[in-house]
Amino acid sequence: MTGLAGQPIFVLSEGTERKRGRDAQSTNISVGKAIADSVRSTLGPKGMDKMLVDSLGDIVITNDGATILDEMDVEHPVAKMMVEVAQTQDEEIGDGTTTAVVISGELLKESEDLLDQDIHPTVITKGYNLASKKAMEEIEEMSTDIRFDDDDRLQQVAMTAMTGKGVERARESLAETVVKAVKQVADKENGELVIETDYVKVEKKQGGEMEETELIDGIAIDKERVHPGMPKKTENAKIALLNSSIEVKETETDAEINISSPEQLQDFLDQEENMLKEMVEKIKASGADVVFCQKGIDDSAQHFLSKTGITAIRRVKKSDMKKLSRATGANVVTNLNDLEKEDLGHAGKVSQKKVSDEDMTFIEECEDAKAVTIILRGGTEHVINEAERAIHDSIGVVCNALEEKQVVLGGGAPELKLSLALKEYASKVGGREQLAINSFAKALEIIPRTLAESAGMDSIDTLVNLRSKNEGGDKNYGINVIDNQVSDMESLRVVEPSKIKKQAISSAAEVAEMILRIDDVISSSGESGGGAEAGGPPAAGGPGGMPGGMPGGMGGMM
Ligand code: ADP
Ligand code: MG
Repeated sequence: MTGLAGQPIFVLSEGTERKRGRDAQSTNISVGKAIADSVRSTLGPKGMDKMLVDSLGDIVITNDGATILDEMDVEHPVAKMMVEVAQTQDEEIGDGTTTAVVISGELLKESEDLLDQDIHPTVITKGYNLASKKAMEEIEEMSTDIRFDDDDRLQQVAMTAMTGKGVERARESLAETVVKAVKQVADKENGELVIETDYVKVEKKQGGEMEETELIDGIAIDKERVHPGMPKKTENAKIALLNSSIEVKETETDAEINISSPEQLQDFLDQEENMLKEMVEKIKASGADVVFCQKGIDDSAQHFLSKTGITAIRRVKKSDMKKLSRATGANVVTNLNDLEKEDLGHAGKVSQKKVSDEDMTFIEECEDAKAVTIILRGGTEHVINEAERAIHDSIGVVCNALEEKQVVLGGGAPELKLSLALKEYASKVGGREQLAINSFAKALEIIPRTLAESAGMDSIDTLVNLRSKNEGGDKNYGINVIDNQVSDMESLRVVEPSKIKKQAISSAAEVAEMILRIDDVISSSGESGGGAEAGGPPAAGGPGGMPGGMPGGMGGMM
């Protein structure tokens, strides 16, 4: 606020908080670093887990960056920007969320030193931008191709994403399952491979061993048939998918029907029954022997269906209907009158089975099922939930490796390689930007450094070791967290899709640049409004929003 002839002028409304220049930057940088710090210890196979307890006392134990940040419910706008980095990474690939956030935090930390040396934020952002672009080229350079039929390599990718997520024992079999599942739902569109990971349904079933996790070449749904008289198992099933109810609709207008004799009532009921019978006849006429209905099925209709030997399941979720349609080839029919033989799908077997004491319906042995289900088993709720997150990451990376067809090694090897390459690049660029590029290079070392730290290795020694290996020509060396030494990541089979690194580094650079460009934070606080109005304009420098009734100019009173 400015004083003009002794009269204060208020540009911003009362209670607005404003931070400018270096002050704003350092607050923002601190927040960004704090967010990165909160997930850093979870990075890598030896990363620690976090226990998050929400306001209702529900507990989540996880090692997954995106989940942690999601549960944390952050307030500060910069914190939200950092969370978005994780979310984007999760949406784009499904893995590498911690990596992306940790690199963002480190870029901010490095920029602090540059700001202290009076390097203007514009120079820093320009340097970061150049470095990020160069990093993309370098990643392309170090990537290797992966073929659709290279199951061994794909399983390495799947396993790398699952490491450290509590599924150690069953890692190999789970990786095999994931690769099979993702390949099964892959489609070709104009010669391009398209994979919708939604078509890999993961159904959690608590109980049993994780090794008992199985892949169904079709869909499993958490529902049982509506009537016990219906066949429990149908071979060679012809399947109808209905998204309307098998019920007699109530009249929509407020019609009043006057019934004056018992016969009339009987007539009325008979008519309703006949309508339901007709509906069941229509289903029968189409040749269907299993019906999945997205809506309800009337009790009498259930009875008739059961008498005709048709199995029916009601209130199936819309998303499951879509998957059923993909798996069996059936069309979802809206109007029962339109149901034709051509709309039916096919499954080798539809059966009701018990999985850990709950009845489920399995629609399996579909020819070339383009939708599949992984029935995930695990001892306790927390174990199975974390396993689900591991599977999610794993599905994401396999899908990405297949679509983009490029992989790099993991274990900090690519980050170290990039760091060395960027340092070389910096000297070529010269000028003040080279300082920023150098900082970028240094920031990338946070990945191998953190991996080493989490394994209990000395991070300084390890990095020195890694650099000298690299300079000596062993370019694939990274952190071997099992034997606490540096090793060839190729021989350890630690492989990740190139896109993980590209996306993580480019969004980290973007968010750091965006945060650095901010030199003014103006935040209005909703709460102090009432008090400020009643109190009139406070004295200059006052905290604003005095409790109601206190006249302005409190200086003389205290
Ligand atoms: P993110 O959320 O970033 O995926 P993770 O906790 O999954 O975080 O850790 C990923 C990092 O761990 C990657 O740098 C990856 O290369 C590394 N990593 C995975 N498996 C191994 C392994 N067996 N040995 C060394 N590093 C590994
Ligand atoms: Mg991961």
